[in-house]
Amino acid sequence: MYDYCIIGGGLAGTTLAYRLIKQGAKVMVLDSIEHNRSSSVAAGIFNPITGKRMALTWKAHEMFDELHSFYPKMERECGEKFFHPFPYYKIFESVFDQNEWLNKQVGMGFEHFIAPHIKSLDQKRVINPFGALQIQKAGRLNSNLYIESMHRLLKNEKALTSHFLDYSKIELGNGWASLDGIKAQAILFCDGSQASTNPYFNYLPHKPVHGELLEVEIPDFYNDQVISKGVFIVPTHSQRYLVGSTYNWDLSEPILTEKGKIELETKLKDIVGIDYKVIGHYAGIRPSTKDRRAYIGCHPVHKNVFIFGGFGSKGVSLIPYLSKVFVNYLLNDSELPKEVDICRIR
Ligand SMILES: Cc1cc2nc3c(=O)[nH]c(=O)nc-3n(C[C@H](O)[C@H](O)[C@H](O)COP(=O)(O)OP(=O)(O)OC[C@H]3O[C@@H](n4cnc5c(N)ncnc54)[C@H](O)[C@@H]3O)c2cc1C
Repeated sequence: MYDYCIIGGGLAGTTLAYRLIKQGAKVMVLDSIEHNRSSSVAAGIFNPITGKRMALTWKAHEMFDELHSFYPKMERECGEKFFHPFPYYKIFESVFDQNEWLNKQVGMGFEHFIAPHIKSLDQKRVINPFGALQIQKAGRLNSNLYIESMHRLLKNEKALTSHFLDYSKIELGNGWASLDGIKAQAILFCDGSQASTNPYFNYLPHKPVHGELLEVEIPDFYNDQVISKGVFIVPTHSQRYLVGSTYNWDLSEPILTEKGKIELETKLKDIVGIDYKVIGHYAGIRPSTKDRRAYIGCHPVHKNVFIFGGFGSKGVSLIPYLSKVFVNYLLNDSELPKEVDICRIR
C-alpha cells in the first residue's frame, strides 16, 4: 500500500511527489497526457510584479527565495538546464503611466524586485518611447523540460504510471483508498483544471481560463530578457520566442482560435519594431479559481482526500514554496496559510 497516491503529473503533482519521496513517503503518481496539461503549454515565466495594477505577488519574498533555490537544485538532481533567470522589462505606455509607477512604488516593498532607474531599450528593435521598468528576480522555467525531467526521476523511483483515473472508480475507507485497484492511505488531487469536474472538489468555485501563445522567430532580438506591453515576449531558443498570452473564460477545451492569434500578433506589432515569423501556436486551460488564490487542503468529509491546485497563471512561482508548506502540513500537522486553505470556502 502507498502512503499517497497523487492524481496528476504536471508541475504541482511532480513537485509534490518529489518532496514527499525525499521525506521518506511511498508515493505513486497517476498521470494522463490525453488530458489538458497546462504545465506543458505554459510560457514558464516567473515575475514578482504582475497584473494591470502592477501588484507585488502574495508572499513574494518567500515565493521568490524558494523558487530561486529549488529549481537550480532540481537542475543538479536531473542533470538538465530548465531554469533561466533574467530581467523582465515592462514597457511604459505613456508619461502618465511612468509617473503613476514612480509615485506608487515608494514604501510599497518593491525595492528588492526593481531596478532604481527607468531603462531605455534599443528603439530600433523595441518600441519604447517612454522607457521600461526593469523587474528583477524574474525569468523563465522551461516547464516542458522540467516535467519531462521530473517524470524520468519519478519513473526511476517507480513512482509514476501513465493512467487516467476514472473518479467513479475510487473507493474510500477509514485510512485507506482504492483507485482503480491501486491502494493508498490518502489521495492528493493535483489534477489541474480537471478539478472542476472532480466529484470531491467540484463544490469549490473553479474558474478555468483558456489561454493561447504564439511561437515566433525574430532575428537579432533580445535573447536574455522578457519584454512586455500587453503581451510578453520571452526567449526560448536561439532567435525563438514565446508571445503570450490570451485570457478567455468562455472556452473550456484547449483549442486554437484565429481570434487569439490576431490578438497576440496585434499586440506583438506594438512592441517589436522588426520583422518576425510565426512558427507555432499553442493553447491550454489554466487551473484558475474565483478568488485567484490556490486551493490547498483536506476534503471537508473525507479526511484522507486532499487537493493541491488552483495555481492559475502563476504555477511556476507558487508551487515550489506552497508544496513545501503542504508537505509540512501533511507530515507534521503544521497549519496552511488561510489565504490558500480550502477551509475559506466551506
Ligand atoms: C497559455 C498558458 C500560458 C501560461 N503561462 C504561464 C507562465 O508564464 N507562468 C506560470 O507560472 N504559469 C503559466 N501558466 C499556468 C501554468 O500552466 C499552471 O499554473 C500550472 O502549470 C498548473 O500546474 P498543475 O500541475 O496544477 O496542472 P496541469 O499542468 O494542468 O497538470 C494536471 C495534470 O493532471 C492530469 N490529470 C487530470 N485529471 C486526471 C485523471 N483523472 N487521471 C490522471 N491524470 C489526470 C492531467 O493530464 C495533467 O497532466 C500558463 C498556462 C497557459 C494555459
